[in-house]
Parts: sequence; C-alpha cells; structure tokens
Amino acid sequence: MLKWPIINLVGIPYDLKSSYMRGAAAAPSDIRNTISDGSSNDWTETGFDYTTDAEFKDLGDLQIQEYEDLFSQLAAVYHPDESFLFLGGDHSITYPIVKTIHQHKQGFDILHFDAHTDLYHDYEGDPYSHACPFARIMDEGLCERLIQVGIRTVTKHQREQIEKFGVEVITMRDLDRIHQLELVRPLYISIDLDGFDPAYAPGVSHHEPGGLVPRDVINFLIGLQQEIIAADIVELNPRRDHERMTSALASKLLKELCGIMIRNHRNI
Ligand code: MN
Ligand code: MN
Repeated sequence: MLKWPIINLVGIPYDLKSSYMRGAAAAPSDIRNTISDGSSNDWTETGFDYTTDAEFKDLGDLQIQEYEDLFSQLAAVYHPDESFLFLGGDHSITYPIVKTIHQHKQGFDILHFDAHTDLYHDYEGDPYSHACPFARIMDEGLCERLIQVGIRTVTKHQREQIEKFGVEVITMRDLDRIHQLELVRPLYISIDLDGFDPAYAPGVSHHEPGGLVPRDVINFLIGLQQEIIAADIVELNPRRDHERMTSALASKLLKELCGIMIRNHRNI
C-alpha cells in the first residue's frame, strides 16, 4: 500500500526581526495567491500532484505579535509524524521552528541556502535578529550538521563563528563542491530567497549579485533521497518584487519540495 504523507503548510507573517527593510510579513499571502492564480498546474517534476498524492493541508497563518509567540504557536501546530512547509516571514523564524522540531526528534542535518550565513552572535544587540538564527541553533546543538550553500557575504566575525560551530560552508565561489556532499540523515531545509541571484529573485530585502540559479538548486533538491522532515522558504519581500517573479519562484520551490517529500516518504 502506498504511504501518503501529510504535508502541512504554515504561514508565518512576521518581519519584525528584519535588520534593513520590512515587508516579508506579506509573503505568505502573496505566495498563496501565486499558487492559486491558475497560471500553473499542481504537478511536480518528480511526477506527483502534490494536492492529491499527499494529504496537503493549509493550516493558515500563525498570528504573531511578539517573537516569543512563535514558540508557543509552533508547539501547538507541530506534529512529528507529519511533514511541514513554513512560509516566512524573515529568517528569524527558523530558530523557533528548529527548536520546536528538536523537542520531538533529533539526529537531523540542516541544509541552508542563503547569500548570508546568519551566524551573527547578535545583530545590533538583538540575538534573535534575522541575521542570527543559525548562531542560536548551533549554540543549542539543535542539529547534527549545518551545511550552508550560496554564501557570498562572510565577515571576519562570521568566519570565526563558522570555525567555532564547525559549519560546512559552500560559497558561491566553490559551488561545485555541492556535488561532493554526502548527506545521509533526515533533513531540515531552509531556503532564504536572497541566496538566489537577484536576477531570478528581485523580491528580497538584501540584493547580493552573483547568486544561485534556480535550476541548479531544484536539481540538487530533487537528487536528495532522504526524509525531508520540514522546510522553510523565507525573506520574500513582495514590495520589491517585479511581476511577482520571486513569488513564482517561491511557489515553484514549495511545489517541488512537496513532490520530493512525497517521493522520499514512499521510498523510505
Ligand atoms: Mn540572506
Ligand atoms: Mn537568511
């Protein structure tokens, strides 16, 4: 009998930890509008219709006033036997998500796509800034390995943090190393859309030219065979988008991540 995964979609319209420009709070509704606008069908490149080959449930948006609300609201929606896709919001949401998951399951790796390491000990005094989530995750040892892909903005402080925490960084300059990665544990995937080149993803607050190409990332994700326990797609800023290009990329990634979750769930 085929195993049908339950995939939950959760929006987190929160951008109060953005250091430079707000706007990411509008992303979950923007992505939902793009998914349902009729411009694209529901089939994935892995050969599944994510709306019928999984039990796909949109749980709506969390209602976050304060950062601390994230922990209680995530604890209320998360279930360890089900898969989750979270739509940010800025990248500060990833620490509470991973902390919540870690309370139920351990022994997973994090695969993180971003222009930035987000490893600041604190940013302008705030340890929960969107520039800091992976420092908090590593401080608390919430994952086995942290692999960062697409990095191109490393500061001296961040280099020290990379050393201290043993983060595996694949910069844009040595992106080919991605093919040597051996990933075996279950994965949490975090996709900051500014990891992509701004030519493909202009709708982000921090433009960093010289970034990832969507095709390369999608092919790499489709090549992953292990369990994907959850994923987030963060930092879409609809105010900066052009013709909803970045929203379309976020929707595409959401759909393909569902297809990969379905396929891997069946094969494991
Ligand atoms: Mn970033
Ligand atoms: Mn980030």
